[in-house]
Amino acid sequence: MPGEKFFHDAVRFSSCVVQDFTPSVSAHTEPREICPVTADQTARFARKSADDSAAIVADIYGIDRWGHGFFEVLPSGHLALRNPLDPDARPLSLPDIVSDLQARGIEAPLLLRVGDFLRSAMMEVHGAFSSAIEKTGYKNTYRGVFPIKVNQQAQVVDRIVEYGRAMDFGLEAGSKPELVIALSHSLPANALIVCNGVKDAEFIQLATLSRKLGFNTVIVLESPKEADTVIQVCKDLDVEPMLGVRVKLTNTVGGKWAKSSGDRSTFGMNTEQLVSVMDKLRDANMLHCLKLQHSHLGSQVPDVNDVRRSVTEACRYFTEMTREGAPLTHLDLGGGLGFDYTGEKRAAENSINYTVDEYATNVVEIVGYAMDEAKIAHPVLVTESGRAVAASSSMLVFTVLEATLYDAPTMSLPQAGDHHLMSDLAAVANYLAADRLQECLNDATFYRDEMRALFRRNYIDLRQMARAERLHMWLLTRIRALAVDVEDGSEINEQLEEMSDIYHCNFSLFQSLPDVWAIDQLHPITPLQMLDQTPDRRAILSDITCDSDGKIDQFILSDRVAGALPVHSLPEDQPYYMGVFFVGAYQETLGDLHNLFGDTNVVTIEFLPEGGFDLAHEQEGDTIAEVLSYVEYDPADCITAFRRMVDRATTSGRLTSSERRDLMRAFRESIAGYTYYE
Ligand SMILES: *Cc1c(COP(=O)(O)O)cnc(C)c1O
Repeated sequence: MPGEKFFHDAVRFSSCVVQDFTPSVSAHTEPREICPVTADQTARFARKSADDSAAIVADIYGIDRWGHGFFEVLPSGHLALRNPLDPDARPLSLPDIVSDLQARGIEAPLLLRVGDFLRSAMMEVHGAFSSAIEKTGYKNTYRGVFPIKVNQQAQVVDRIVEYGRAMDFGLEAGSKPELVIALSHSLPANALIVCNGVKDAEFIQLATLSRKLGFNTVIVLESPKEADTVIQVCKDLDVEPMLGVRVKLTNTVGGKWAKSSGDRSTFGMNTEQLVSVMDKLRDANMLHCLKLQHSHLGSQVPDVNDVRRSVTEACRYFTEMTREGAPLTHLDLGGGLGFDYTGEKRAAENSINYTVDEYATNVVEIVGYAMDEAKIAHPVLVTESGRAVAASSSMLVFTVLEATLYDAPTMSLPQAGDHHLMSDLAAVANYLAADRLQECLNDATFYRDEMRALFRRNYIDLRQMARAERLHMWLLTRIRALAVDVEDGSEINEQLEEMSDIYHCNFSLFQSLPDVWAIDQLHPITPLQMLDQTPDRRAILSDITCDSDGKIDQFILSDRVAGALPVHSLPEDQPYYMGVFFVGAYQETLGDLHNLFGDTNVVTIEFLPEGGFDLAHEQEGDTIAEVLSYVEYDPADCITAFRRMVDRATTSGRLTSSERRDLMRAFRESIAGYTYYE
């Protein structure tokens, strides 16, 4: 039979081309069929949340677990913000905030900062130290400083200074521009400005002279060479500098930033350098200026026992330097206090196994004990907690523009003349059963891939291929429905997650979530509405850059990190908003202009005591003209060049004068507009 022979040829042929062409089930190589939104892709959730209440849907996303008490799902299905400083206040619906902003002309994608979240995080850190100091009878005080590099945006730094006034909060500057930012704020009399990073003579002069204005500016020496510069610069000034030394701890801490701790970390001095700096200062008669020891513990330290070991080591240097005659009064433990992004409460990359209170209590107890043992007065405790202060304070909100669905609600039947692999594919439905899901998935994918190999070699045509793809999608839909009762995270479910939908969203990963792209940072993500309804689909999120890296495919759920996010079929009559939470630390300034998507709109809100919110600040996102000028184009030149072409086409009769007008208007309006989908 010719068909039979052809079949065998095809199989032989295709099984040897499999290596060459690597037919793949990866989403990127599959045709992006846009199906109508119908099928119930994740009946799994339907089954689990029989009563459909908002609380149960909230539980799917684990909102209570990672939410730090900032969020709540309203009976309307809206995700709402709680006022952390007034737990009895009515929560603010996020979709209502977004539509209110839209009515004022502020569109998504937008970065929403919540002033009260920032204030509450600062109060949490400060309060934890204050109560640990009181509880343990520590005989000095705590002073927080905010490291500007964590979020340099004026609106954020201004608020930190404002909120921090009552807590003597200061600022940490790691560069000359950051020192300029710090010095342009009026700070409380007791607040510190801690200068880290590499410093030149100008930096040192500025920092030292600023003391005449009443700033407590500490120059933290990073190397013996910097000590030379300080000695040189300060001998001509009639004000003495406040000096610190950055001591490199040998204890390494775990987590993503392990390399920023220990012997091989790039900043700070080893014992030999430390001795040399003290000798230099003593020789220059400046040892009495040395007031602060800086020992940075790391960043996002996951395990509290690493904190304990590092602080213990830091205290050894403190007591030894004191014994050498340095009149140290401040111990600065730098950054490292982590933030629990996933809510797992364990020593993992995006989580921590301790609370802010435990961190503070450990620091205070260890330092107090070490100083008592060495019979040294308790120093002022300083930390430079950036992430823990800023992470929770902002969220990114964007809309889903479109969905590429990986299922088919109806079957397509093989037609007369179709290749009989098509019948083999259809036949999978005959033995589809709960106990044969993996087998059926394997078979369906195998036959589909064989068909693809035939298509590439011109053995079957486009319409037949489309029928095969649809049949495969339909089988997937059936398999998914039957997999509802299989455990989450099982092999079959992981495979099905890899074939989930793609929701195309109006944002740029590279601009707004750089750490998600660069270092697999996890942030909680949920839809902002419809949370009273069971999410019926699962999707990964892709951004609007033309980059296959511009996607999010790891999601924090209540019980695990999943490869797809439960989402709803897109409603037809309203926008579907998504929120990415805890993006206040490190995400805002590292972003790049991939595809020239610029800054998003930014708003800061504050809760009003009588309910509702105050729009404390608004900042329009970049226009296309602005991003063009960042990459050295002159927007006016672009308009001139375009107009010249338009005029030529009009003169030669290829454009009518009304077409000319429309084209020029579209060009000008584009240049003046938002870089995102409008
Ligand atoms: C980055 C940095 C910080 C902030 O660290 P977090 O872990 O975000 O608190 C503090 N101090 C110095 C010197 C830093 O470089």
